[in-house]
Amino acid sequence: MSPPDAATPDKLAEYQTKRDFSSTPEPPGVVVENTTGTLRFVVQRHRATRLHYDLRLEVDGVLVSWAVPKGPSLDPARKNLAVKVEDHPYVYGWFEGNIGSGYGKGDVVLWDDGWWEPDPEYPASADPAAAIAAGELKFVLHGHKLRGRYVIVRTSRGGGGRSGRSRDDDQWLLIHKKDADAVAGWDPEDHLRSVLSNRTNPDIVAGTPGRWPAPTKAELRALDTMGEKGQWTVAGETTRLTNLDKVFMPGRGTAEPGRGTAAPGRGTAAPITKRDIVRYYAQIAPWMTPYLAGRPVNLNRFPDGIIGAKKGFWHKAVPTHAPPWIRRWPNPRAGTDETREYLMVDGAPALVWAANFAGIEIHPWTSTAANPDQPSYALIDIDPGPSTTWDETLTIARLFRVAMQQLDLVARPKVTGQRGIQIWIPVRSGYTFQQTSGFVEALSRTVGRVVPELVSWQWHKNERRGLARLDYTQNAVNKTLVAPYSLRPAPGAPVSVPLEWDELDDPKLTPDRWTIRDVLPRLAKIGDPFVAITGVEQDLPAL
Ligand code: MN
Repeated sequence: MSPPDAATPDKLAEYQTKRDFSSTPEPPGVVVENTTGTLRFVVQRHRATRLHYDLRLEVDGVLVSWAVPKGPSLDPARKNLAVKVEDHPYVYGWFEGNIGSGYGKGDVVLWDDGWWEPDPEYPASADPAAAIAAGELKFVLHGHKLRGRYVIVRTSRGGGGRSGRSRDDDQWLLIHKKDADAVAGWDPEDHLRSVLSNRTNPDIVAGTPGRWPAPTKAELRALDTMGEKGQWTVAGETTRLTNLDKVFMPGRGTAEPGRGTAAPGRGTAAPITKRDIVRYYAQIAPWMTPYLAGRPVNLNRFPDGIIGAKKGFWHKAVPTHAPPWIRRWPNPRAGTDETREYLMVDGAPALVWAANFAGIEIHPWTSTAANPDQPSYALIDIDPGPSTTWDETLTIARLFRVAMQQLDLVARPKVTGQRGIQIWIPVRSGYTFQQTSGFVEALSRTVGRVVPELVSWQWHKNERRGLARLDYTQNAVNKTLVAPYSLRPAPGAPVSVPLEWDELDDPKLTPDRWTIRDVLPRLAKIGDPFVAITGVEQDLPAL
């Protein structure tokens, strides 16, 4: 993908005209240039006035689209009506959400995606734009649900168009050919979940997080009994694992000043191997994936662990050796020297792959791939300075708690697993990063005025006199904070753990209280406090 060409917005003029971007969560229309070498297709299940499935094929930098009332199928006996609708922008191919009002009002899940190609047996389809203009395209889908050879053919020409209110008369038929992928009786309504977030349409409306399977006992046993390397299949995908017994982090020592006391549980002092890390990320997947799905992800990699004080490095691009089932997001705006293809985590297999790739620390974008300029959260980052005590960090966090209560905002804190506390405030769609950053800055300055002896506003670390920083600048595109339930590179493998507000008053709380070895028992016991902020769409009040 290359930067958008502002001179050619025409193809998306109808898309732009139909929508009010101050109220819809859908992305604005931008034509992009394909540099990935494959063409993307998506199908979105859209419960609008009438339920339909939107089939979208990438052609010349946009998604050419049809609304298919009964949905596409693998059954060659079904000849499905498809109504041609306006071209959609490329990033719409990652959109899911609730369109609360206006055009297309209803809820959308990404029902299927993958890549497509013109059917090589039909030269007339080799130029897809020309074939569609002529009223017949033969093509092959390579998706998660849909696969094989299709034809879409116009049966009556639309009289409406750009200025028309409706193009319901631009009718086509979508037919699956009788090929090896055909399945008689295959009904799309039997396969409702999103391929991106594993949610259903009602989940989107209710703000319910997606559900992902935990690894089975048999799968875990296969990992535990594997040698130093091998192939591991979890949740249907296979990853090649290496260096499983390599020690990545020492166990938690007994006499580290400023650190929490050794947590109870099995073997806190035992060193952490790569096998432990792979196992943890597989098991945490059902809890962690809701905060990663649909977002580009940056990895902080430690290929040699932290033994010998090794430093990590940021890794954004998906390497070419990654397996084909790894979900990738090509950033449509990446410049020539920027990362093009980002990792998207859609379940345990992707987390296992990232763990084997030594991506110890996982940082998701604050915005989604569908709408990179719109944050889903406003983030408060209490970053202690060298002189800041844990009690002082808690004092600042409690001031934010009071502020959230007074502003009537739903939010939750989490410990970073290192020394700090972050607070996540979910926002409705439509905010810019400038707005969330401005809100967090204003709020942080208000809190800072209450405890000026604890907080510094100096940009340079050495001018902060060891005081804490309230860092609002992470509220920006492609700036990231550590994910809920990510490991941190420190002895004992501490975890960034979401909290209930009243846990800030627990005398046993420390910023690195939970480790790779005791987070899962905590979740089994009290659940995930961040479920309270999942799917919450709220306004940020004026300060
Ligand atoms: Mn639709």
